[in-house]
Amino acid sequence: MMVPKLQPTANTPDVIVVGGGPVGSYAALNLAKLGVKVTVFEEHSTIGFPSHCAGHISIRSLRSMGLYPLPEGIVENTFCAANFHSSAGTKFSLHLSCPVTVALNRARFDQYLAKKAQEAGASFVLNSCVQSLLKADGFVKGVNIKQSDGAEEKVFSQIVLDAEGISSRLLRQAGLTALKPRGLVYAVEAEVDKVQDVELDAVEVYFGKAYAPGFYGWLIPRLDGSAKVGLATNHGDPRDYLKRLMFKHPAASKQLGKAKITQVGYHAITLGGPIEKAYADGFLAVGDCASQVKPTTGGGVIFGLTCAKTAAEVASQALRQGDVSSNFLQVYQKHCDDLLSFDFRVMLRLRRFLNSLSDEKTDEMLRVCAKLGVDRALRDVDEIDFQGKLLLNVLGKPAMLAALAYFGMLYLSANP
Ligand SMILES: Cc1cc2nc3c(=O)[nH]c(=O)nc-3n(C[C@H](O)[C@H](O)[C@H](O)COP(=O)(O)OP(=O)(O)OC[C@H]3O[C@@H](n4cnc5c(N)ncnc54)[C@H](O)[C@@H]3O)c2cc1C
Repeated sequence: MMVPKLQPTANTPDVIVVGGGPVGSYAALNLAKLGVKVTVFEEHSTIGFPSHCAGHISIRSLRSMGLYPLPEGIVENTFCAANFHSSAGTKFSLHLSCPVTVALNRARFDQYLAKKAQEAGASFVLNSCVQSLLKADGFVKGVNIKQSDGAEEKVFSQIVLDAEGISSRLLRQAGLTALKPRGLVYAVEAEVDKVQDVELDAVEVYFGKAYAPGFYGWLIPRLDGSAKVGLATNHGDPRDYLKRLMFKHPAASKQLGKAKITQVGYHAITLGGPIEKAYADGFLAVGDCASQVKPTTGGGVIFGLTCAKTAAEVASQALRQGDVSSNFLQVYQKHCDDLLSFDFRVMLRLRRFLNSLSDEKTDEMLRVCAKLGVDRALRDVDEIDFQGKLLLNVLGKPAMLAALAYFGMLYLSANP
């Protein structure tokens, strides 16, 4: 019979990371580099599976984290263009002067980060689901684990770093507010073969309330003619919307009408902006579970990794000072806000703006962007993550000023 560990022992990790997704592994990598004893618990048997993500990531952000170039086999394609399609068939194209984004094989990327973390000294325990938090005197003191064979174990630590993704089951146990359903959209991500009529260095974005209400659809091509296709919706069944997108959308149906779905997955995306409080006594929340995701595009990898590094630094300082109270750990939230809050505020407004537009107004917006030369104004952009700062940088260009004034009018007419 397995004897549960009831007291911290010499093998007790300083920090337990819940979840071996990119954010958990990157947090573990940074903790291990700082000399912290860290164990990652992952509920699945293999890191990276099941994969639910399009893996469309900015090259500049990866490079700034020392993660680019990546080893062979992880990058599937690079992109310097995007085509935006309205439901009426209008197309607005953006061609940038150099490759700005990559499509990653997310499973391999996650495995790469986990391997780097292990090489730095982090321990990974697979097939181990964190069922609940251990608490004493209001402090999080460790976790209750259930292994795939049913065995249960208590594992103590000084800090639990929650990187469990969107399920965010542990937040409430830590005394924090769980993700609000209002901020969620429900996504479907499919692998398809034989797409037609696509530029291999461009991602396709499809708008239309009949196809992806509350978000948009996408196509991310590979060089071999296959692609990742997906969409998210704020109501209804994403499967039905995907069929409609592939066969009825004026642009998507031309590119996907003859394609076959070879694999499909479903997952939610959080668009509501970061949770108000992502720390508690002995506890930090990072990544999707803290809603550190761009409200415009649903991209969460770069912001999640950015916050994971900050969380690791703060956790390591807290351990050195012998103070893991929320009073000390709150500095994590402050650093994340300093890095990201301006961009989040801008992106939340952009998301609200996009959601408020009718299909006719979205069509008009794309036509106006083309007429004003927004594509030329954005030609040298190489940063797509920090969208508040990006807007500030391009505001000096007359086309962008005119576009912004026009968008302001559109917003006011849609929200009188
Ligand atoms: C359809 C779709 C497309 C997307 N496309 C992009 C994109 O192109 N670019 C981009 O930047 N972002 C994209 N995202 C968002 C991106 O996938 C997430 O932001 C990112 O995966 C967050 O990483 P994470 O480590 O926080 O969470 P996850 O990747 O969800 O990892 C969480 C891990 O924790 C494990 N886990 C959960 N609960 C427990 C538990 N109790 N015990 C042990 N283990 C547990 C899970 O098994 C998982 O491995 C997309 C999301 C979706 C749904």
